[in-house]
Amino acid sequence: MSAKILGGKEIAEAIKSEVSTEVSRLRREHGFVPGLAVVRVGDDPASAVYVKNKVKATEAVGLNSEHIHLPLTTSQTDLLGYVNALNTRDAIDGILVQLPLPEHIEGRDILEAIDPEKDVDGFHPINVGRLSQGEQSLAPCTPAGVIEILKRSNIKIAGQNAVIVGRSNIVGKPMAMLLLHENATVTVCHSRTRDLAAVTRQADILVAAIGRAGFIRGEHIREGATVIDVGINNLSDADLVADLFPDDEVENRLSAIEKRGFTLVGDVNPKQAIEKAEYFTPVPGGVGLLTVAMLMKNTVAAAKARRGIK
Ligand code: NAP
Repeated sequence: MSAKILGGKEIAEAIKSEVSTEVSRLRREHGFVPGLAVVRVGDDPASAVYVKNKVKATEAVGLNSEHIHLPLTTSQTDLLGYVNALNTRDAIDGILVQLPLPEHIEGRDILEAIDPEKDVDGFHPINVGRLSQGEQSLAPCTPAGVIEILKRSNIKIAGQNAVIVGRSNIVGKPMAMLLLHENATVTVCHSRTRDLAAVTRQADILVAAIGRAGFIRGEHIREGATVIDVGINNLSDADLVADLFPDDEVENRLSAIEKRGFTLVGDVNPKQAIEKAEYFTPVPGGVGLLTVAMLMKNTVAAAKARRGIK
């Protein structure tokens, strides 16, 4: 079997285009444009790239965008002050505080200070609770993006065995809730799971969110499964390239390592997944592209919910 590749680009573009149409309608019919504020503390280079992409996408879909970049020395009290100010501003519909925060700041306190109605990352305990109860809520962007990929690719979810490897609050757990609400039979695995491969081989839909390059291999995958790779890892070891990537990718990957020092790889071994799965999301170019699109979608959903607009 050679898996069909479920690329994220087209789906992400479709979602952003729908958001853009909705933003125009809100401006025309309701006289406002939703606004997203992104707060970044310090100079973590990866966070700088993520925030830049978010701001760019926000502007491209026609949302109002505000980027608040604070110095590394910002105190917890000052950051709480910024969040509270954004909570009270009517023009701001979504607030995102980019993680990770510096060590002297208690991230949990900051995330809990965000008004749940503006919590477009879906990390506030109120939204986590709403999600688990199956109520309308702002769901975390990455797992919500996975559901979009599955649905828009016409992959059956109801009644299917879905196995998630990883139980983090930002991916694994909300992924489990979202798949459960779509009537999948859900199993969540983690580092203490006994005989992981025996469990993951039961999966019609296998979601990997582990943080270990190429960890899910052929023996973990049922023939004909849909494999969703959420992982994003930097691979710098050229010796692993031939084991991880199909022959036609090896040259490009090696030259990326030579030029930039690394190439991106997910939590699944793509070479082996392509041999066993029916559908497979690539890294890069898969789930990662959906995360920002879902942030745009959540911002519009938050703006409408707060104003009681259908
Ligand atoms: P995380 O918080 O580190 O959680 C990793 C999970 O994997 C944990 O639940 C851990 O189990 C489990 N795990 C670790 N080793 C394992 C093993 N040997 N066998 C089974 N399970 C194991 O990571 P995360 O934040 O969820 O991120 C996961 C991956 O997704 C990372 O590669 C990250 O870069 C990527 N990611 C991508 C996006 C995107 O936009 N596409 C967004 C977020 C994250 P325990 O709980 O037992 O420790």
